[in-house]
Amino acid sequence: RSGYCAATRVFRSKRADVPLPADPDLDVVTFLATRRHSGVVALVDAATGRRTTFAELWRAVAGAATALSAPPFSLRKGHVALILSPNSVHFPVAALAAMSLGAVVTTANPLNTAAEIAKQVADACPVLAFTTRDLLPKLPRSAQADLKIILLEPAHDHRLPTTTDPRIIATIDEISATTPNPSRRRDRVTQDDQATLLYSSGTTGPSKGVVATHRSLIAMVQIVMTRFRLDDSAGATETFLCTVPMFHVYGLVAFATGLLGCGATVVVLSKFELPEMLRCITAYGVTYLPLVPPILVAMVAHPKPLPLGQLRKVLSGGAPLSKELIEGFRDKYPRVEILQGYGLTESTAIGASTDSAEESRRYGTAGLLSPNTEAKIVDPDSGEALPVNRTGELWIRGPYVMKGYFKNAEATQSTVTPDGWLKTGDLCYIDEDGYLFVVDRLKELIKYKGYQVPPAELEALLLTHPDVTDVAVIPFPDREVGQFPMAYVVRKKGSNLSAAEVMEFVAKQVAPYKKVRKVAFVTDIPKNASGKILRKDLIKLATSKL
Ligand code: AMP
Repeated sequence: RSGYCAATRVFRSKRADVPLPADPDLDVVTFLATRRHSGVVALVDAATGRRTTFAELWRAVAGAATALSAPPFSLRKGHVALILSPNSVHFPVAALAAMSLGAVVTTANPLNTAAEIAKQVADACPVLAFTTRDLLPKLPRSAQADLKIILLEPAHDHRLPTTTDPRIIATIDEISATTPNPSRRRDRVTQDDQATLLYSSGTTGPSKGVVATHRSLIAMVQIVMTRFRLDDSAGATETFLCTVPMFHVYGLVAFATGLLGCGATVVVLSKFELPEMLRCITAYGVTYLPLVPPILVAMVAHPKPLPLGQLRKVLSGGAPLSKELIEGFRDKYPRVEILQGYGLTESTAIGASTDSAEESRRYGTAGLLSPNTEAKIVDPDSGEALPVNRTGELWIRGPYVMKGYFKNAEATQSTVTPDGWLKTGDLCYIDEDGYLFVVDRLKELIKYKGYQVPPAELEALLLTHPDVTDVAVIPFPDREVGQFPMAYVVRKKGSNLSAAEVMEFVAKQVAPYKKVRKVAFVTDIPKNASGKILRKDLIKLATSKL
């Protein structure tokens, strides 16, 4: 019943395997585009109501790829293309066009500061960037003289400011209107080639590029299609609302690739705001709403039930969902099913999910393992694999697991075993029926509204303050946002540094979601014999009064 094999101590997914295409010369875009769903609406721009059919979408992708492969872009296999943009209907066009050429797509959070984006640019070395007029100033100038820019907005839009930045070479509507040239020279792209480079801090340290191949994405598209039980040939009947960011694996895999394979209609919100989300749910007849827990918190906290039109399902992912929140939502919205998905950037999204109301009735479960997935629960101290109902670190193995971290063999070796197990850094157990429960996080990561905040990054920054001699940053639990960063600071002798000054020092240099929102001063930071911060002790100390 659990899928557990006592001899190997491995859990196998109870879901039927999805078929994985054998052809080695297959890229995810060709794989997706063979499912044409021609007359169906693929994307709707929530702000303008403009609709793009699948026929128009694939035509735009082919046109953009033709333009990108020619001078002055000359985008080739292995080149990196950066997308720095809020959600938009153009985002998938840019991502798919680049990937179809064998180029690697890297994405950045538009909330990040120019310095944070410069760091990523220095690591990933993109040759071109898709961005918006608003975000242009965040792209580094000097270090990347060669960075060519394509605006991910129409050439003429009276709502947008004009710009004369000489780095802009074209706009997305210009390149996607290019006549596709199927006989153009094309690099051979295989399933083994790299497709995306999304940034994640993993179990420790600063953000690192996560290398996912076309094979990982194709496997995930197959899993998404099964997950959403959508008819592969005729086009789906569901209308999804995209509230989660496409720069994150959740949005990129669901909305910019997976659901396009299903023939589902995706209404794209450029950014989350509750009133606009509600307007779109009603105006566009949205039936399915993937989101992160803080949006559910807002929906439950509302004094009266919100009007949800034809909405039938919400899918929560990216962070834990409390029992209290599930119950609160069910009480307020009894007609809407609440489902869960669990995954991480390193697993190219969904490692487990609940697919029906019946499955999610098991309170707190993140669901059954995805198809084609094996799992082990490993005792973090002894390294021994544990049986049913015992808590340890979740290791997963499946065709979607990342190849490794970009230019970081050490982090790769400590995260993926030679036989393909991904150490998730999450403390979990799997019950007698095969349901996964995420109990706690073993890794350092803080998740604020579903966004990753690497404590190591904030610690490194705080150590540059002249009055700070040592520091540890930990997650502090919060009902609304999930967690926020809290800093334990050791002041230099004689310093009067205040909590407000510490918070301001950080706030000035990081994206708003990374701000330190609580500070405590201590005389020393607890560490183990090898100098590793004992974060669990600090978390216990911080939360003992809650
Ligand atoms: P990211 O790489 O940004 O997607 O973050 C992945 C991490 O988010 C996981 O390793 C978990 O710690 C957390 N996470 C994602 N989904 C869930 C879930 N359904 N329940 C609990 N934690 C989750």
